[in-house]
Amino acid sequence: MAKIVCVLYPDPVTGYPPAYARDSIPTIDHYPDGQTAPSPQAIDFVPGQLLGSVSGELGLRRFLEAAGHTLVVTSDKEGPDSVLERELVDADVVISQPFWPVYLTAERIAKAPNLKLSITAGIGSDHVDLNAAIARGITVAEVTYSNSISVAEHAVMQILALVRDFLPSHDWVEQGGWNIADSVARAYDLEGMDVGVLAAGRIGLAVLRRLAPFDVRLHYSDKRRLPSEIEGELNLTFHDEVRSLVRDVDVLSIHTPLVPDTYQLFNDELLGTMRRGAYIVNTARAAIMDRDAVVRALESGQLAGYAGDVWYPQPPPADHPWRTMPHNAMTPHTSGTSLSAQARYAAGTREILECFLSGRPIRQEYLIVDGGQLAGTGATSYSVGGDASPGSQGDATV
Ligand code: NDP
Repeated sequence: MAKIVCVLYPDPVTGYPPAYARDSIPTIDHYPDGQTAPSPQAIDFVPGQLLGSVSGELGLRRFLEAAGHTLVVTSDKEGPDSVLERELVDADVVISQPFWPVYLTAERIAKAPNLKLSITAGIGSDHVDLNAAIARGITVAEVTYSNSISVAEHAVMQILALVRDFLPSHDWVEQGGWNIADSVARAYDLEGMDVGVLAAGRIGLAVLRRLAPFDVRLHYSDKRRLPSEIEGELNLTFHDEVRSLVRDVDVLSIHTPLVPDTYQLFNDELLGTMRRGAYIVNTARAAIMDRDAVVRALESGQLAGYAGDVWYPQPPPADHPWRTMPHNAMTPHTSGTSLSAQARYAAGTREILECFLSGRPIRQEYLIVDGGQLAGTGATSYSVGGDASPGSQGDATV
């Protein structure tokens, strides 16, 4: 029988919701590339309910306990006396979400001799030290595509929020004001701007598709070019390197994985090559940015705004400078954990567990590391080595 340790973000401060704003969510069977949505044998939750917090338990308890397995669910993941540290020592499976990640360092992996599987309930396994997982033969899996469109929608929202300066304007209303001049002093139209996407994978391409109707000039850079039909359909300008892309855009949306090439990529020097008053939205990973260089660029006016939902570490300390830097429209790491996304990645987590516990192969598209090497999606989208993974660095602030 297996022991599964599941680390989830805490329940709402007002308690687990007794009711929801909507009665149902749309059913998504397939993603835009044809991949089928998660297909576990059954689910024990109501899609649209809060599954990603401790009381939601990703809807896993009945299924696991009925089969005799042990499920431990906690949000307590920091420090040597945390529930995570205590339970890890005999865990077979660890589950966490990028929104509240277990930084599965080499040190933690060494403390978990039984560990065979690390599941990311969501997308992005950079919180796991992949080199250490490879060395130990641990399988790393994530629920590929489960929240890609959720993130794309959030990125488009944040682009509009920055360019139109939505948040300060809303604040005036709440304060009882009618300060139109204050509200529009930094508000522009997106129409006609050059908008770029760094990495046109599942999320980046979805952002490009959603922005095309805004009559902007679309640019992108990626390791590989998109098919010419897509470039033509969306009227895309391809840049074969990041420097060329960032020089030519007013708005940049970042969608690369955090890999050695992208770790701390946006430093003072690269930010200084952008158009003065450019906007950046980063829903990929915080460590792609030099944290303090972003603050300096906003203070000097080199950047007109910065938004995103990814921080390092997560949760960030109360004095993290991105909470209070000027012209930010940051959210906590929420883009990929809408109630709609949770239904998909909870079902995908169950599908991965069903396969693992019954000895059936996990879908290739969900695999990041398997059999001591990068595998499946991991073999095409990830690289290892260097310092790219916060999973290799623990909870230290960068
Ligand atoms: P995909 O794998 O579909 O796309 C990533 C793209 O990045 C691929 O086209 C890949 O190219 C390209 N790429 C890889 N390395 C580089 C590089 N060094 N420079 C430029 N391009 C590169 O991933 P998704 O679109 O699904 O997700 C992207 C990232 O978004 C995830 O890795 C994750 O970190 C983040 N994410 C954030 C979420 C959130 O809640 N905020 C939720 C989900 C994901 P190639 O295929 O050739 O390797």
